[in-house]
Amino acid sequence: MHHFRYVGQHLHCESVDLAEVARLYGTPTYVYSAATIADNYTRLAKSLQGVDVQICYAMKANSTLAILRHFANLGAAFDLVSGGELRRVLSAGADVKRSVFAGVGKTEEEIALALQQGIFSFHVESEPEMARINHVAGKLGVKAPIAIRINPDVDAHTHAKITTGKSDNKFGIPLKVAGAAYEAASKYPNLHIKGVQMHIGSQLTDVGPFVEAVKKVSPFVAELKAKHGIDYFSVGGGIGIVYRDALASGSQEWWDAQLAGQRPITPEAYGAALVPLLKPLGLKILLEPGRFLVGNSGVLLSRVEYLKRGQSKNFLIVDAAMNDLVRPAMYDAFHEVVPLHRDTSRPALVADIVGPICESGDCFAKDRSLQQVGEGEYVAFMSAGAYGYTMASRYNTRSMAAEVLIKGSAFELINARETYDALIAGERVPAFLK
Ligand SMILES: *Cc1c(COP(=O)(O)O)cnc(C)c1O
Repeated sequence: MHHFRYVGQHLHCESVDLAEVARLYGTPTYVYSAATIADNYTRLAKSLQGVDVQICYAMKANSTLAILRHFANLGAAFDLVSGGELRRVLSAGADVKRSVFAGVGKTEEEIALALQQGIFSFHVESEPEMARINHVAGKLGVKAPIAIRINPDVDAHTHAKITTGKSDNKFGIPLKVAGAAYEAASKYPNLHIKGVQMHIGSQLTDVGPFVEAVKKVSPFVAELKAKHGIDYFSVGGGIGIVYRDALASGSQEWWDAQLAGQRPITPEAYGAALVPLLKPLGLKILLEPGRFLVGNSGVLLSRVEYLKRGQSKNFLIVDAAMNDLVRPAMYDAFHEVVPLHRDTSRPALVADIVGPICESGDCFAKDRSLQQVGEGEYVAFMSAGAYGYTMASRYNTRSMAAEVLIKGSAFELINARETYDALIAGERVPAFLK
């Protein structure tokens, strides 16, 4: 559920007309709904009632400072993957001390920074990393809290680029050698074994693989508790969201109309399936959701530049491009595209929706049917709150888009559109070319 809906013929986010935002700040612009984020967070926390749960928002999904601040206010901690993300947590005035540091390539500098800031735990992905963390902790005269990431070798049934829990992925340590890895960790003088972690993939639309993975590693988790006195189990993130019926899925009626067995994953179903498995472990449970918390809270506003009518195809050319939202080009992802001004009296248009970038891959949708729209009108790409702005680039010397946060009838720019001067600020022509 979310807070995007038509009021009359105008698409609103909470109480704000999105066309007003587009006119005020220009396009392309990301817009987020604070209420949707809060609802998602609260629902998920509630669905895990009965276990001691700590939600570490996977900030790589959307790491703009205002969004982080909103999560901190809600009581979230963070799952971060770089020194830069750690600095963002600090810049947002949020707490690193309940946050975890993931990723396969942590540098010495990043490890030192996290230790100095009192990170809750490192999620260790390999034995060489373990040795490095021990070394850096020794230099600083502290003990480093760690958990090892287990690769449970289950199929998450999601896109190949976002599945992480199979044995041929680069992530984690296989279950059958994890015992030995914990033994090795226990011999390092500067490591404190604090927990165990797994994360099987992203955009899972069914609870099955989560259940399978938890069942598979639970005996090992119990063993670790007995042997090494661990006090937490992180089950990762990965809860999927609705992309295809994105706008409709804002309403309770849409969810009610889904057949019970086939409905997309909900936090309630996730909690109901996992709580009975997790509770007997008697451990603190960490969740690392990213997409679920922010995905449906954001849209990308874009302006129609041209409707190019070809012989065999129409092309709707918009001012957003793959540099702003790379998911369709990178993951073949589907984003629903809706007009900000709905007019049911107009004929339907079937077109490829494309950006201006010089790549055939700069295509948001093929043969998409939508209401006829023309030059100067606005459209919204739905479900763009996660892995949208954070994956954007400056390809074709296109500036980073603006970002706006809405709360009720209030809205504010939370990230100004990048200026050309800022974009080239680090560049220099060397003396030997002058
Ligand atoms: C990316 C990631 C997450 C978040 O995944 P979502 O699908 O966005 O929930 C959680 N944990 C780890 C280790 C990750 O790499």
